[in-house]
Amino acid sequence: MFDYLVVGAGFAGSVIAERLASQSGKKVLIVDRRTHIGGNAYDHHNDAGLLIHRYGPHIFHTNSREVFEYLSLFTEWRQYQHRVLASVDGQLLPIPINLDTINKMYGLSLTSFQLEDFFSSVAEKRERIRTSEDVVVSKVGHELYEKFFRGYTRKQWGLDPSELDASVTARVPTRTNRDDRYFTDMYQAMPLYGFTRMFERMLDHPNIKIMLNTDYRDIERIIPYREMIYTGPVDEYFDLRFGKLPYRSIEFEHETLDKPVHQKAPVVNYPNDYLYTRVTEFKYLTGQEHPKTSIVYEFPCAEGDPYYPVPRPENAELYQKYKALADQTLNVHFVGRLATYKYYNMDQVVAQALSVYGKISGAKKSGQS
Ligand code: FAD
Ligand code: UDP
Repeated sequence: MFDYLVVGAGFAGSVIAERLASQSGKKVLIVDRRTHIGGNAYDHHNDAGLLIHRYGPHIFHTNSREVFEYLSLFTEWRQYQHRVLASVDGQLLPIPINLDTINKMYGLSLTSFQLEDFFSSVAEKRERIRTSEDVVVSKVGHELYEKFFRGYTRKQWGLDPSELDASVTARVPTRTNRDDRYFTDMYQAMPLYGFTRMFERMLDHPNIKIMLNTDYRDIERIIPYREMIYTGPVDEYFDLRFGKLPYRSIEFEHETLDKPVHQKAPVVNYPNDYLYTRVTEFKYLTGQEHPKTSIVYEFPCAEGDPYYPVPRPENAELYQKYKALADQTLNVHFVGRLATYKYYNMDQVVAQALSVYGKISGAKKSGQS
């Protein structure tokens, strides 16, 4: 008899499985319907021997010391600060928009103070910052919004920024200094031997059994367990009882090129051209030296594997119905990006998983006393 059946071997499932096994002595079975562990953060060496991320670029960044120290139990790190260029009007310009973006784009040499004045002169007043359009337009005005955000967002989400919560484009905040890093978090690093190696070390415990290529529904009545940790899509768990929760998908088109370098930056965004949103060249992320290079194009789509919850009011309302059901479901804990319908980065999922583990183990302790 297993103490826990953990559904999904991504960050959410793997962190909880590791804690339950190593800290609480629980016997854990972790299953995933994919053929590998790591969830969407899975990476592997392709036929050419290049380390690539199957489900698109994953860059680790966090302000949480607790999360960083926890993951450091399972990996060493390669320091890495991510940078992105956007292809706009035939130029490659740094994004998030910063001082250099504007100076290069318009052929100016503004100072930070002058840029602040410029932004104030083009910004449009909004009573309330409610949508992803409001966030950008209220800061940098319509022209820059159109060039950098509107097209990209429509491609990525199949929705206009005015239909999405403010939190989506707020992930890419405008700056008036010359900091061209994509993230400003305290800790920014990549697992030295890749994400999958880190997951292997997390799950390498005598109390943890792993079953891949297995939907939990195929085994839940055959293999006895006491409690479940569920990290798949929450609507699927309840057989879409209230209707389908929208999750945005992506088709990843991987290519290996017979040259050492393909593009000028780790990621190039294409807000206004092509059907793909961005192109990633993995060697920048991994630091690997190799005569060839591997890239991935991302084509967003409505159908396919669920990758992104879609933050907008009607979806939050539908999710609340599922959450109410989830809260009433005894002995099943819903954790992670798909199960709690939150547009979470990896570190936020780790933090959430550690917190759920804390509650489970705390509750068990007080229950025993
Ligand atoms: P997942 O990784 O999705 O794991 C859930 C697992 O459950 C999956 O492996 C799935 O196969 C399994 N599962 C589902 N249903 C079942 C079932 N019925 N039976 C068995 N198994 C099941 N975050 C960052 O911090 N930095 C980034 O740069 C970054 N880039 C990203 C780029 C893309 C394109 C995407 C899609 C996400 C990115 N993220 C990034 C977010 C990151 O992927 C997630 O935060 C994290 O992987 C979520 O972990 P999770 O365990 O909640 O979900
Ligand atoms: N975004 C944009 N233009 C860009 C980069 C981002 O419009 O050049 C918007 C878009 O809506 C995107 C969101 O900001 O979905 C968040 O971007 P991020 O790079 O964080 O997306 P992720 O890596 O999660 O796909």
